Amino acid sequence: MDARNTQHVVVIGAGFAGLAAAWELVRRGVRVTVCEADQELGGLAGSFEVGGTRLEKFYHHWFTSDTHVVELVKELGQADQVLHRPTRTGMYFAHNFFRLSTPMDVLRFTPLSLPARFRLGLLALRARRVQDWRKLEDLTAKEWLVRLGGREVYDAVWKPLLEGKFGEYASEISAVWFWNKLKLRGGSRGKGGEEVLAYYKGGFAALAEQLSQAICSNGGTIRLGTRVSGLLAWDGRVAGVRTEHGPIAADAVLATPALPIVADIVDSHVPPEYQASLRRIEYLANICIVLELDRSLSETYWLNVNDPGFPFVGVIEHTNFEPPETYAGRRLVYLSKYLPESDELYRMPDDQVVRFCLGHLQRMFPALSPDWILGAHVWRARYSQPIVVRQYGALIPPVETPLSGLYLSSMAQVYPEDRGTNYAIREGRAAAAKIAEALSVTEHRNAALSVRR
Ligand SMILES: Cc1cc2nc3c(=O)[nH]c(=O)nc-3n(C[C@H](O)[C@H](O)[C@H](O)COP(=O)(O)OP(=O)(O)OC[C@H]3O[C@@H](n4cnc5c(N)ncnc54)[C@H](O)[C@@H]3O)c2cc1C
Repeated sequence: MDARNTQHVVVIGAGFAGLAAAWELVRRGVRVTVCEADQELGGLAGSFEVGGTRLEKFYHHWFTSDTHVVELVKELGQADQVLHRPTRTGMYFAHNFFRLSTPMDVLRFTPLSLPARFRLGLLALRARRVQDWRKLEDLTAKEWLVRLGGREVYDAVWKPLLEGKFGEYASEISAVWFWNKLKLRGGSRGKGGEEVLAYYKGGFAALAEQLSQAICSNGGTIRLGTRVSGLLAWDGRVAGVRTEHGPIAADAVLATPALPIVADIVDSHVPPEYQASLRRIEYLANICIVLELDRSLSETYWLNVNDPGFPFVGVIEHTNFEPPETYAGRRLVYLSKYLPESDELYRMPDDQVVRFCLGHLQRMFPALSPDWILGAHVWRARYSQPIVVRQYGALIPPVETPLSGLYLSSMAQVYPEDRGTNYAIREGRAAAAKIAEALSVTEHRNAALSVRR
């Protein structure tokens, strides 16, 4: 038997980082138990049922550059399940809709003067040419964007997006964060310059399910509805986790939830200054309203709302990406808003949220009638977007922790890229490889010790 089979790893969280880590560990012959607080797989990329098919609670797609997902999907033998589709992007600005999918659309964007339109087009190209993102670490997104595209472009295009997404934190957001967004969206293009995005047949839920089956059929265990409340430690080394259903012994533990949750879990097993460092990065929450409609709102998949008078920054008509036939003919629209947990909208009862947002949506689409609505859902996530400030790299805790055998692979550690399932997979697997390596060293050392004894 492989030496590593005798060692057991507990992974906290069955989001894409946790599932990918568990997959990497079972592939390397390490015994794994994944403990997930929720009753479902997927974490932030989790789903619910609409018209007989699983749909993400929060809109999800991949970019064509998301290679770590593709690699994983190939290992699962599911490469034919990835779908690539052109999508339309637009902007709602000054009570008008503008298409912004191709370079030609940018040239036709009349709210900007002609020179500013050229500067906007050039900005996207110049941003993609940045080789060393470290040179941007000291700059705010605002400083960098004004330098690159001028004030007019910043005020009309970028400022509303930054303020819509980050609210009071907008002026602190790092240029590195924005550079990444421009690089990803600008790079995910077809031959005609149109945006091409990717999705999975059956949604992200189908991929999470495939991954879970692959983990379990290779000897791993996934325990849903099993919240980890603390750690077991012995002699400065992790010895397992405490759960609401009892303790689970482990030789190593990988924590994948948001850092403030990990700070609660590690409690007194680490020095207080380390525990405090896990609370340094701040996060915004997100609220997504999902409307099931009997007809389409527009032909656009991704509509940025560049008007601060609206309580959402994006109107994402998912069925302009994945066809309505997948959902028994229903048209599905997300209204998304990032906000502090204390925001009134985040705390409103669901029916009030829907009524409030619908009123605003009718200002954009005056024909929209409540009769079109077949269903409405409200989803909230407390830790949905780490606030990426200047010199963010210095705030990120390493994968290894002061408690021997405890490792971290959390969304906020993804950098210089921003969070996303592709990077959750990359980081989860990298942490798992480190753990397997460390365990095999420990195992060999223990074996050597027992021989000597
Ligand atoms: C609105 C929105 C839109 C997004 N759109 C996209 C997109 O289009 N494409 C894309 O790739 N990504 C997108 N993302 C980002 C993506 O969802 C995340 O980056 C990714 O899912 C993070 O995975 P993770 O495993 O690191 O973390 P999570 O998904 O947060 O997983 C952590 C898991 O730990 C569990 N957990 C927490 N506490 C405990 C505990 N005490 N015990 C046990 N389990 C616990 C949680 O329930 C959760 O399942 C979006 C996110 C949001 C919020």
